[in-house]
Amino acid sequence: MIIRVLSPEVVSKIAAGEVIERPVSVVKELIENSLDAGASEIAVEAEGGGVELIKVSDNGAGIPASELELAFHRYATSKIGNLDDLERICSLGFRGEALPSIATVAEVEILTQTSSQTVASYMHLRKGEVVRRESRARPQGTTVTVHRLFRYFPARLKFLKSVNTENSHIAHLVSQYALAFPEVKFSLVLDKRRGLHTTGNGDLREVVNEIYGEEIAKRMLKMEQKDSLAKVSGLISPPSLARSSRNYLSFFVNRRWVHSPLLTRATEEAYRGLLMDGQHPIAVINISLPAQELDVNIHPAKAQIKFCHEQAVFSSVHKGIEEALARTPIASPKAVPFSVSSGQWERPRMIMDNEPVFAVAQLPTLELPVLRVLGQLANTYIIAEGPDGLYLIDQHAAHERILYDRILTQWAQKQVEIQGLLQPITIEFSPREEETMRVNREPLAEFGFTIEPFGNRSYLIRAIPALAAGANVIEMTSALLDSLASRESLIPWEEKIAESLACHSAIRAGQQLRSEEMRELIKQLEQTKQPRACPHGRPTMIHLSAHHLEREFRRIG
Ligand code: ADP
Ligand code: MG
Repeated sequence: MIIRVLSPEVVSKIAAGEVIERPVSVVKELIENSLDAGASEIAVEAEGGGVELIKVSDNGAGIPASELELAFHRYATSKIGNLDDLERICSLGFRGEALPSIATVAEVEILTQTSSQTVASYMHLRKGEVVRRESRARPQGTTVTVHRLFRYFPARLKFLKSVNTENSHIAHLVSQYALAFPEVKFSLVLDKRRGLHTTGNGDLREVVNEIYGEEIAKRMLKMEQKDSLAKVSGLISPPSLARSSRNYLSFFVNRRWVHSPLLTRATEEAYRGLLMDGQHPIAVINISLPAQELDVNIHPAKAQIKFCHEQAVFSSVHKGIEEALARTPIASPKAVPFSVSSGQWERPRMIMDNEPVFAVAQLPTLELPVLRVLGQLANTYIIAEGPDGLYLIDQHAAHERILYDRILTQWAQKQVEIQGLLQPITIEFSPREEETMRVNREPLAEFGFTIEPFGNRSYLIRAIPALAAGANVIEMTSALLDSLASRESLIPWEEKIAESLACHSAIRAGQQLRSEEMRELIKQLEQTKQPRACPHGRPTMIHLSAHHLEREFRRIG
C-alpha cells in the first residue's frame, strides 16, 4: 500500500498519544517499522542510553522516494486506509505517528531504497523540518538514525534514568523482538559492545539460548495447544527452573509483544503448587488468533491489547502449559543441601528439650517469648511452645530473616565473609543481565562477588559471599540481577542483594531438621531485628494463643 494521510474520521478512532517516552520507545517503533516492511535482518545500535544515538537498519521493502516526506507527516501510514482496516490490524504499526513523533523530539536521518529504484533516497530532518535531501547508494532496505534525543526537551531528559538503565531497557526490548521473530536475524550493539546476535534461522530454542543461555535453552519444554479460537505455542520452563521475577515471561499475540495480566495469570495458574512462593516460570508464548478477535487500538504504545473472548484465551494458554508440564516428571522444588559446615550454623548448644532456648530478659530487642521446640511438621514448620500457646515457625522464612540480617550487618561493617570457589562457575548472562551486572559491579564486589568476563556474554564467578556457599550460584546470581534491575527503585540496592542472597541460601521447605538445628534456628531468629517477618514481609510464624486454643476447644465461652 502507498503511504497516505488517514482521514480525520479514522484518526478520531485511533488511540493516539505520546508514543516517545524514552529512548527505548524509539527503538521499539523503528524495529516495528522494519518488521512491518518484511525485513529478515535488523541491526540495532545505541549509544549513551539511546540519547546520543539510535540506529536501526533493515533489509525490508524500503520507502519510495516519492513518499519519503509523507512518511514524516502525522497520521501518514501505508498500513491501514479505512475504518474497516482498523478492525483487523495485521501490521505492528498503523497510526502513522512514530516517524513524525521521533522527528519532533530528535534529529533524524533516513536512508532508504526499494527494490525498483535506481538510487536510494537520503533525508535529514531537524526539529521536524527537512534540512537536506539527496540521492545516495544503499542496497534495498532502510536505515533510520536518531541523534540527540530530547535535546530540546530538558524535562524529558531529566526524567530518564542512567545510561545503563536505558541501555538495559533497550537490550530487553530487542531480546523480546528476537524471541517473537526467530526467523529474523537481529543484532544489537550497545555503546559499541556486542549485545546480542540471533541467526534468524527460525529456531526459537536457539534464540532462547542466545538470550538466556544454554542451560535454560536446553531445559525448556515445548508447548503447543490448538483449538477453534487460538493457537498457542512456545517454550516454558520445567518447575525446577524458576526465576524470582516475572521478567522472564514473554507473551506475543499475533507476534506483537504484549503486557497482559490475563496471560500472566493463565501461565502462573498452570504452575500453581509447583513453584515456591515468589518464584515465577520462564516462558515464551506465542498466541495467534484471528485479527478481529483482538483490539490493539487501546493504548498509544500498543503494548496492551484486549481479547474479545478473554476466557477462551485464558483456557487455551492454561491448558497448553498444564499439558506440557504433565508430560514431564514433576520434581519438587529443589532442596539446597543444608550443610552445617557452610558456616550458616553455630555449633549447636547442648540443651535439654525442656530447657528454654533463650529468655526474654536477656535480649532487649526481643520480640519473641521463650520458645521450646516440640518438633517439625511436614519437614517445613517448626512446632514450638511458648508461655502463651503454640507457635508454628516457617523454617525457610525464619532462616531467610536470619541470613538477611547477618549479611546486611557484615556489609555495613565491611566484613562480608567471602568464599573463594576452587572451581569457578561459568555463567552466561542475557544482554539485560549483563548490563545490570556491569552497572552494579561495585555493589556486587562489596557483597563478596568476584565476577570476571570470559568472552562473549560468559563470565566466571570466582568468589561469592560465604553465607551463600550452599546455594545454587547460577540461579541466585540471576535472581539477584533481576532484582537489581527491577523498577522498585525505592528499595535500596543493598537490601535487594541481601534479600536475594538470603532467599537462595536459606534452608528450604521439605528439609528435615534435627532438634538442635531447630533450636539453633529459633535462637538465631530471636536475635534478628524483626523475627516475625521474613525480608519479603511474609510472616515467619503463626501464633495460636492459649486463649485461642481454649476457645476453640470450648473450654471457655
Ligand atoms: P506506521 O508504522 O503507524 O504506519 P510510522 O510513522 O511508523 O507509522 O511510519 C510511517 C510509514 O513509513 C509507514 O506506514 C511505512 O510505510 C513507512 N516506513 C517507516 N519505516 C519503514 C521501514 N523501515 N521500511 C519501510 N517503510 C517504512
Ligand atoms: Mg510505525
